[in-house]
Amino acid sequence: MDGATLTTAKTVNVILLGPPGAGKGTQARMLEEKFGLVQLSTGDLLRAAVAAGTEAGKEAKAVMESGGLVSDEIVLAILKDRLAEDDVKAGVILDGFPRTTAQAEALDEMLAASDQGIDAAISLAVDDEAMVERISGRFTCGSCGEGYHDTFKKPAIAGTCDKCGGTDMKRRADDNAETVRERLKAYHAQTAPLITYYDKKRSLTEINAMAAIDEVASSLETIVKRVLG
Ligand code: ADP
Ligand code: ADP
Ligand code: ZN
Repeated sequence: MDGATLTTAKTVNVILLGPPGAGKGTQARMLEEKFGLVQLSTGDLLRAAVAAGTEAGKEAKAVMESGGLVSDEIVLAILKDRLAEDDVKAGVILDGFPRTTAQAEALDEMLAASDQGIDAAISLAVDDEAMVERISGRFTCGSCGEGYHDTFKKPAIAGTCDKCGGTDMKRRADDNAETVRERLKAYHAQTAPLITYYDKKRSLTEINAMAAIDEVASSLETIVKRVLG
């Protein structure tokens, strides 16, 4: 990686599919830096709604704490607002969306309305058991959002963000072993069928996301470069 951002006139929309802990957020941020696409995480948008105390946020809070999925209605309303903003016009990396078939169908309709579609749906294949450790050790810089891990991605100086120097590290309330198991169940019951959904549309690629972070990043870069043409 040379660190340069490649700019393109082409609109490219990429979906990262995978259970909690698969590395969607980590990889989406790296792709954002590399290709100038915008990371769009419905989890982040929902947490912002909860923090702001909006009606949607109030409804979503308990569901998120339990490890279930927030209603399609709420998630789609939040996503639609976000997709109407100017910065996403060159394309997005969807991280944690869609999570149900209804969401995938609604996304197809939304994109078709502006002559766009999904250029690549990438499934990050992992072992469930390893996700409990990944999630339990996850923390994030409260200032810039950079993600870290107690074992797999430690900051160079303990407690200090490599990217921005911030020292306000945060752990999510739902990142505990018990809730992760509920989230994994929700993934298999409601989200995993999307692998077949995108496979049928011939837009699916599966990659081994048990590999080290940099190896996963290079597999993803190859795919994104290909769709950018
Ligand atoms: P997701 O967004 O899919 O829930 P994250 O990107 O937040 O997952 O990753 C979960 C945790 O695992 C983070 O602490 C991250 O640093 C770490 N992680 C991500 N990818 C890998 C990997 N390939 N190997 C080891 N740890 C990883
Ligand atoms: P992770 O990928 O680590 O599980 P996210 O930040 O993507 O975490 O999601 C956290 C929680 O937010 C989920 O457990 C779920 O309750 C809710 N959520 C996020 N995105 C969606 C979505 N597209 N549909 C329904 N619920 C969602
Ligand atoms: Zn930071």
